[in-house]
Amino acid sequence: MVTYVQLSTKAKMPILGLGTWQAPPGKVEEAVKFAIDVGYRHFDCAYLYKNESEIGDGIQQKIKEGVVKREDLFVVSKAGEETHPVDDNGMIVPSNTDILDTWEAMEELVDAGLVKAIGISNFNHKQIERILTKPGLKFKPANNQIECHPYLTQEKLINYCQSKGISVTAYSPLGSPDRPWAKPGDPTLLEDPKIKEIAIKHRKTSAQVLIRFHIQRNVAVIPKSDKPHHIEENFKVFDFELTNEEMETILSFNRNWRIVEMLNAVNHKEYPFEEDY
Ligand code: NDP
Repeated sequence: MVTYVQLSTKAKMPILGLGTWQAPPGKVEEAVKFAIDVGYRHFDCAYLYKNESEIGDGIQQKIKEGVVKREDLFVVSKAGEETHPVDDNGMIVPSNTDILDTWEAMEELVDAGLVKAIGISNFNHKQIERILTKPGLKFKPANNQIECHPYLTQEKLINYCQSKGISVTAYSPLGSPDRPWAKPGDPTLLEDPKIKEIAIKHRKTSAQVLIRFHIQRNVAVIPKSDKPHHIEENFKVFDFELTNEEMETILSFNRNWRIVEMLNAVNHKEYPFEEDY
């Protein structure tokens, strides 16, 4: 059973998708094919992840096999490095391109029929406000993809987005344990004893509770895995419900701990994470 988040474009985005950052090109095609068999219909991709063509191959094969139709799939991509030039040290070069100009270029993609919906990622509420109040705005952002999990619950930003008809997708929902910059002593969501306790009550795993948490906030969620047993486990989240009390308890774990700080962009004029939300 697939449930959806309704977008302002009237399109429906499957609430659970497969993340693909750090899914190696040699593995991701099989992972995508397996995920389609399991029931995933939403794939979160990016130019930057250097595996989009293999993901496309996996999707094409499942379409050829008649397992899915293209129109049943929701494939997300992100404009990558080409919009943020990087210098020889890997630092993002502050560009003079305004986010409003970038947005107009994205609107042209909709007009040209190349994409069905356009969204934003890692935008704070002030940046979103600038887009929404832009004179001549043609399409408002359909979605804002942001880091979100029990240690960064994003209540203000989610309320703000949802109040403006902008849906939200939660990235790094499991705490991104394979992030290259992980340090010993960092908090680990999957090992959190209080999450485990809730999981045991429901005969579920911590990962399943971490995923379900977003679904009950009407927030799309995109856990990454390239392992069949995890891909399958992460999809088994539509047969249980966290109580209101459990949702409140999980929200109380917030500690504003940001995993993806994008420190290489800290001097960029649009660095988004200095705002409260
Ligand atoms: P996640 O929180 O999804 O964690 C992924 C890690 O968890 C992998 O190491 C995976 O290992 C492991 N894992 C997956 N399922 C389970 C399970 N059931 N039990 C135990 N471990 C599990 O981290 P990501 O940072 O990858 O975030 C998800 C997606 O969000 C990304 O892949 C990407 O698509 C998107 N994203 C977007 C960003 C943006 O700026 N817009 C930034 C960061 C992420 P294994 O593969 O071995 O199963």
